[in-house]
Amino acid sequence: MKRDHELEGIIKEPRRYTPVRYISDIENVNFIPRDEIERLKRVTRVFPFRSNDYYLSLIDRTDPNDPIRRIVIPDESELDESGTLDPGQESSFTVAPGCEHKYTNTAVLLSTDKCGGICRFCFRKRLFIDDTKEASRDISPGLKYISEHPEIDNVLVTGGDPLLLSTKRLKDIIEKLMAIPHVQIIRIGTKMPAYNPFRITDDPKLLDFLNEANASNCQIYMMTQFNHPREITPEAEEAIWRVRESGCRVHNQTPLLKGVNDNSEVLRKLANRLSYIGVTPYYIFQNRPVSGNRAFKVTLLRGIKLIEDSKKKISGLAKTARYILSHPLGKVEILGVKDGHFFFKFHQSRYKENLGKFFSCPVVESAYWLDDLEIPEDIRGSQSRASFA
Ligand code: SF4
Repeated sequence: MKRDHELEGIIKEPRRYTPVRYISDIENVNFIPRDEIERLKRVTRVFPFRSNDYYLSLIDRTDPNDPIRRIVIPDESELDESGTLDPGQESSFTVAPGCEHKYTNTAVLLSTDKCGGICRFCFRKRLFIDDTKEASRDISPGLKYISEHPEIDNVLVTGGDPLLLSTKRLKDIIEKLMAIPHVQIIRIGTKMPAYNPFRITDDPKLLDFLNEANASNCQIYMMTQFNHPREITPEAEEAIWRVRESGCRVHNQTPLLKGVNDNSEVLRKLANRLSYIGVTPYYIFQNRPVSGNRAFKVTLLRGIKLIEDSKKKISGLAKTARYILSHPLGKVEILGVKDGHFFFKFHQSRYKENLGKFFSCPVVESAYWLDDLEIPEDIRGSQSRASFA
């Protein structure tokens, strides 16, 4: 496999880091000065910290604004409580413990509340903060619901991160889903290729199982979350290569994040790198106005410009990501801006009558979320508003 020539400053050959050492006490991150640790402990008492020695090794320690650092190291700005813990109102679509059903064809199984690292901008931080029990160890009620709904042809297994489950447990979940005749596609939502690629490369049983599953009646998609091109290390490439070799399709989704990837050159490199390693750039999400996430805020106007600029120098194969706002009303594609109006289209909708609908709203320069705009009445319905304001 070709190694990337664009990225300077990363180690060019896969390193051995196994077993990766997880760190969940910020005191044990040895490159953070003592006085800062004391300040950050106030943050981690609200929203916990978790990372590992491999991922922390990707941080440029000489740069206080390093993008990898921003992804995983707490920041005092998180104590700003504007926004809500669940602006997408995901929990309101819970149909059985650990199972959500919002869009006709798709069910979501929250299989765990653990991740290989805790992203500081996480849109599901309520799973780590509140004792919500939205993720469930016993997925049988969710499986029963899915088996009784023949319109569900694809299931997203997520969390948390399902690759934090043992291979035995993950296999059990996937086999049970595969046994439901109308389930054709199973998606595994994971950031482990970025946080700990050895979870994949060092587990032949996982890869064998994925191989068998893909050779049967189901297609497995791995939905990765690379936020920055520097996360695509030789180790991560290796993991992606093995997953693709097992017959999985691999798609990437990332939120647009201030200080991480709000730069057209970074977005260009990310899209290119993904396409070079056989990963389809799928969604760029407008990050949700979740409590504590204000420091990652990128306005809609700026987001459109950054994404459009990033596409100027990439091939069509890398231009596949849609810019999406995942709102309680549905997945709304942000199409662009013209003549003082934002243009949107429903990619997925909570209500059938909105599916595929175009709509526009007058530009508000500071707008971040759909609720910051004057949405046409027929689209909004009786939705309540949520934003950072
Ligand atoms: S991997 Fe996903 S669920 Fe886990 S902390 Fe990051 S954004 Fe949240």
